[in-house]
Amino acid sequence: MEYNPKEIEAKWQNYWNENGSFEPLNDLKKEKKYILSMFPYPSGRIHMGHVRNYCLGDAFARYFRKADFNVLHPIGWDSFGMPAENAAIKHKLHPKKWTYENIDYMRDELKALGLSFSTKREFATSDELYTRWEQEFIIKMYEAGLLYRKSTIVNWCEPCHTVLANEQVEEGCCWRCDTPVEQKEMPGYYIAITKYAQELLDDLKTLEGQWPSQVLTMQENWIGRSEGLEFSFELSKESRYKLDKQFASYKVFTTRPDTIYGVSYSALAPEHPIVKYIVEHKLLPDSKIEAIKAMQKVSERDRATMPKEGISLEIDVIHPLTAKKIPVWVANFVLSSYGGGAVMAVPAHDQRDFEFAREYNLPIKQVIVGPDGIIEKMSEAYTGEGELIDSESFTGHKNTKAKKSIMYHFEQNSLGTKQINFKLRDWGVSRQRYWGAPIPFVHCDSCGLVPEKTENLPIALPEDVEITGEGNPLDNHPTWKKCKCPKCGKDAIRETDTLDTFVQSSWYFLRYATNPQKWTKEGISKPDSDYWMDVDQYIGGIEHAILHLLYARFFTKVLNDLGYTNSREPFKRLLTQGMVLKDGAKMSKSKGNVVDPDLIVEKYGADTARMFILFAAPPTKELEWNDSAVDGAFRFIKRFTDRSSNVTEDAVKNFKEIDHKTLNKEEKEARRKVYEALQKSNDVFNKTYAFNTLIAASMEAMNALQSQENELVWAEGYYILTNILEPIIPHLCWELSDKLFNKENFNNKIEIKDEVFEQDSIILAVTINGKKRCEIEVSPNASKDEILSIAKEHSAKWLEGNEIIKEIVVPNKLVNLVIKG
Ligand SMILES: [Zn+2]
Ligand SMILES: [Zn+2]
Repeated sequence: MEYNPKEIEAKWQNYWNENGSFEPLNDLKKEKKYILSMFPYPSGRIHMGHVRNYCLGDAFARYFRKADFNVLHPIGWDSFGMPAENAAIKHKLHPKKWTYENIDYMRDELKALGLSFSTKREFATSDELYTRWEQEFIIKMYEAGLLYRKSTIVNWCEPCHTVLANEQVEEGCCWRCDTPVEQKEMPGYYIAITKYAQELLDDLKTLEGQWPSQVLTMQENWIGRSEGLEFSFELSKESRYKLDKQFASYKVFTTRPDTIYGVSYSALAPEHPIVKYIVEHKLLPDSKIEAIKAMQKVSERDRATMPKEGISLEIDVIHPLTAKKIPVWVANFVLSSYGGGAVMAVPAHDQRDFEFAREYNLPIKQVIVGPDGIIEKMSEAYTGEGELIDSESFTGHKNTKAKKSIMYHFEQNSLGTKQINFKLRDWGVSRQRYWGAPIPFVHCDSCGLVPEKTENLPIALPEDVEITGEGNPLDNHPTWKKCKCPKCGKDAIRETDTLDTFVQSSWYFLRYATNPQKWTKEGISKPDSDYWMDVDQYIGGIEHAILHLLYARFFTKVLNDLGYTNSREPFKRLLTQGMVLKDGAKMSKSKGNVVDPDLIVEKYGADTARMFILFAAPPTKELEWNDSAVDGAFRFIKRFTDRSSNVTEDAVKNFKEIDHKTLNKEEKEARRKVYEALQKSNDVFNKTYAFNTLIAASMEAMNALQSQENELVWAEGYYILTNILEPIIPHLCWELSDKLFNKENFNNKIEIKDEVFEQDSIILAVTINGKKRCEIEVSPNASKDEILSIAKEHSAKWLEGNEIIKEIVVPNKLVNLVIKG
């Protein structure tokens, strides 16, 4: 048979399409598998990263479909977001037109790869019907106290009159007009993810072994739970007067109460109320006030990467245990959002505090001594364990114990309390942009903030907008925001903020799980989600390890609490695929090292592209593009096609009657290799994900088949190989299976035959006094005596004239004879 990928691939893609071959069944009693690759952003064209992501997901879906599961394998589009607006500014294209044209183009590109998606469940998150349900969830979250509005600091460009995302700030300036960005306080909507912080952390345990441990660690660190002590620093009397008696104390949080006697200064965030008060009332020399103002202009994110910087506030606080005065500074490394925006600083035992103290000549007091004892001149902070010194009644205690006893001391004397703190912050979901889901609220002069009535949903975007990059197009629209208050009916103003696009990707998998016939009536069908959830296998890039996966886990828990689903942890198993590289670097237009998937499909066919991408590296590892390996995949596929002529009609009828015992050595070896590949296939899809090893095993099986001439063995070989290679090179396997077996091997589970693994003989090494002398071939059932007699016979020349004093048989391995002389 001639290999003609163009013809075969078009033929089967049409067949699958016409027959709805990949639609899940509505039979909710059958065992299911929900296989999901993270859905794409419709940026314009697919790239090799997409090919890898979707070929992996497709392989799982096809494998489990053949293993007789009811498989849900959907696709859709994460289609709101900034690039559409940027394209609108650049090319004067409406974001909606740009987005949906991209979707049409990319859908065809994915189709050309032969991916087995359910087409009936496809949607774009910018579809009004999807927005409708999302807005309902947002309102329900507001009613449950999980969504609120508060003022917060944002990046602001005055000339453009717009809020900028962090990615739009380039070296402190606006990406569009290059003006320095300001930090401005603006109201915005927040989702209270912190209320779920403990559960999000605890449930990571249930994913151990199912998710990459690296991802679990990243999530754990992001949630950042810490236990520590919260206490107050009282301001000294003079400082209280200096601050017009407006402040008496402030709270600090520390995870290291054991170092409290080493505190030598305290530092406040630039946003701390005391700092603001000092600036507003000019309580310091002008030069200091200007320096603090400059510090306040830099975003927290940028401060994190800047050199440590601080200014003395010329006030003191009283140490809660020693009653000594401690100077207070404002420092750029203190986060306003963590532990109240104030810290105690212990330079001897915290590296950041140490660097700051050295920069500004602040005292460094060692209070824990490790194995090196007292360090005369510290060159870095000592962060190890040890014994307390200079710590009043705690002197001599081990610091791990002192942590607890000092905390206890604070609590007993009402000086402070034990606190659990999380790094995780509430999720700011407001975006001042057009191409997003409108936040469904109304501002009424009489009623305040009012959620829209559900019967008025969706609140859709107006189509007649001008997108210039200046201001918020929804805010600038002449009529859109004018509305009636849903509560009192008076004139009101519609909210013009739209939702962060991470909101859409936080529940799309629950939407897929809902039968599309219910989509207009329900956002998520509970019985459908009971059946399909949780996702059995989720596949996507490691770049989503934190935000997307955390938000999706959180949203599922919230939707569960709101009664929409019984799922609580959405993704049972996670596979994070590695990047596709060329010449050692990530493919990118700017580097000029992009390989266009369309061209590979055009030149070699989709099956070759699929095989290469799964064969070139284990899925979690980086994959280096390699033209000769692409050729290699193509040659294997061609050979697999050619050799199919060895499968005769007669053999197809009779191969199930093969009598293994009567086969010769090569025939037995061929069968063994074929069944090894079958076994590998089950391991790969259920356990190891090592698709490359499955392809290698299939190649070995092909080589072994070619070393023999038994037609029955050929037929059985193709019966099995076309089955196990179908998830990888589906077009050709459907063609061959249809031609040779009438697709019977896709419908029946193929059992592994143990007889093929039974070996006729085994090879044992014979050693004399530990030195290998020869090898013998024996039956696997041979007794110890038989083995020894064969071994002695074969090694007679080395034994001659010597007395054997010991005989050892190590089963399946070797015979060792010990002689005297
Ligand atoms: Zn600007
Ligand atoms: Zn009202």
